[in-house]
Amino acid sequence: MKDLPRLIDPFARAITYLRVSVTDRCDFRCVYCMSENMNFLPKADLLTLEELDRVCSAFISQGVRKLRITGGEPLVRRDIMDFFTSISRHLKSGVLDELTLTTNGSQLHRFADQLAKIGIKRINISLDTLDQEKFAKITRWGRLTQVLDGIDAAINAGIRVKINVVALKNFNENELDNLVKWCAQKDMDLTFIEVMPMGDIGNENRLDQYWPLSDLQKTLAKTWTVIDSREQSGGPARYVRLAETNQKVGFITPLTHNFCESCNRVRLTCTGELYQCLGQEDQLDLRKVLRDNVDNKSLINAIHAAIAKKPKGHAFDYSRQQVSGQMSRHMSHTGG
Ligand code: SAM
Ligand code: SF4
Repeated sequence: MKDLPRLIDPFARAITYLRVSVTDRCDFRCVYCMSENMNFLPKADLLTLEELDRVCSAFISQGVRKLRITGGEPLVRRDIMDFFTSISRHLKSGVLDELTLTTNGSQLHRFADQLAKIGIKRINISLDTLDQEKFAKITRWGRLTQVLDGIDAAINAGIRVKINVVALKNFNENELDNLVKWCAQKDMDLTFIEVMPMGDIGNENRLDQYWPLSDLQKTLAKTWTVIDSREQSGGPARYVRLAETNQKVGFITPLTHNFCESCNRVRLTCTGELYQCLGQEDQLDLRKVLRDNVDNKSLINAIHAAIAKKPKGHAFDYSRQQVSGQMSRHMSHTGG
């Protein structure tokens, strides 16, 4: 097969990974992600499913090998399975290595079989607690049993599951061992994430939520034998293995350890803005390029121009007990 063109940024990083938010809407209102009374975007502002396909395919034609669909909650977007089915043609042709999604799990009981059938092999599911009441509190609108059913549906469909847990002070600190054991029992990978200053979250205070993963790792080491691992997923996570369970545990630490040097990704928002970095405001409006041009030449040129401006790293910082590097946009808009 002829080599595909490649997207190389100014710091010699090859951009092979595109994350796409397909909607800013969600059936949950997690307290660290949204305020309870979120104003969602008008539907006409969102890229249509056809536009999403066109822009993703353009990236794939320029060397993107991994596509992650996210949101908001991707599985609440109407007819999203049509998009998944259509874009999976790139898996079948071999130009895409992986098609995957990040989901809150609430709709997986409906879609897991179909997702497996079109070639999705792994998914990330976000779950911060195994306690029903705490789950209702942190998601405001979610039901734990529905998510647990969704997780089982994914496993039964043969999809490998990774659980993403946002580390939250005074919330899930005392559940660390339970979460580890539960993931080990179900043979699921587990990754912890530091809470990032993305978007206005109403009355909640970021610093009240922030539990540094350096502390979390010390707590983990009280119960488990933590072995450093050199495993890489090509992304920002660092991994350890727990000797007792041989389980892989990841840490995404944008605050305590800036991971930007290995960044291989860019993000497309549900309205077609291309963000070269999650933690910077620079973006390029690909929706306009898409809507103004029927051919893909301008689109591909615009993608290359954006990658040529990818910054070195984000600017999040909570040191000195204040939040700096705060982003005005929500994670659900940009796609976490
Ligand atoms: N709704 C899906 C879900 O929850 O998995 C996908 C979108 S959600 C924005 C993607 C991930 O971002 C989730 O794992 C969520 O926990 C995480 N997230 C949301 N807001 C965050 C924040 N302020 N800091 C760190 N992670 C956040
Ligand atoms: Fe929805 Fe995911 Fe944000 Fe929770 S983290 S409100 S599930 S988009």
